Amino acid sequence: MNQHVLDIHTHHEDGKPGEAIICKMPHDFVPTPGYWYSVGIHPWEVLNIHGKELLDLHSLAQHHQVVAIGETGFDRIRPLSQFTQTLLFGNHSNIADEVGKPLIIHMVKAADLLLAEKKKLNPQVPWVIHGFRGKPQEAEQLLNAGLYLSFGEHYNVDTLRATPLDRLFLETDEATCGIGFIYDKVAADLGMEVERLKEVVKKNIDCIFFNGDSRMFGQKQ
Ligand SMILES: [Zn+2]
Repeated sequence: MNQHVLDIHTHHEDGKPGEAIICKMPHDFVPTPGYWYSVGIHPWEVLNIHGKELLDLHSLAQHHQVVAIGETGFDRIRPLSQFTQTLLFGNHSNIADEVGKPLIIHMVKAADLLLAEKKKLNPQVPWVIHGFRGKPQEAEQLLNAGLYLSFGEHYNVDTLRATPLDRLFLETDEATCGIGFIYDKVAADLGMEVERLKEVVKKNIDCIFFNGDSRMFGQKQ
């Protein structure tokens, strides 16, 4: 194992180096050595982006500290044009495929839209839905389509228990609690030792976010 990431999605930048994947918009991506990032245009921000944002995203996607693209996605609670969200999502997905990095997805009441896009775009990289709070039935559809689920501070415990361990990630997102608290809570809900849970999730992170990228690690061990 060649990395120490425990938290695949956070907006906090005050954690230990290398422990989280920090989510940034292209215009505020200022990488600190030793930290990992995802870069994308959040669907809530589509009305605030400037013209160069997509071009910048395209070039930043290749940065060696950027290990994922996003968050991007669909949000039916916010008054955003579905057309614009779909267009931007398609752009992010294409960029992710081009650079061979997974896509981090924000999805609120839009599983149908996401599944339709999955069929249409036929992505070559893993898609990870962050902050998943859906019910087991919705999770099953998404898992059957090959997607991964990331759980944060709030989740449906039955969904968590029904998620195969090799499709599971954990995150803090905007939570004020640390990632350690989330591991403790999830381990208790799964009836697992927390150290064992960390091993399982780190293995997933290694496989999905870090595997095969020789630019990042030089030689593999
Ligand atoms: Zn987020």
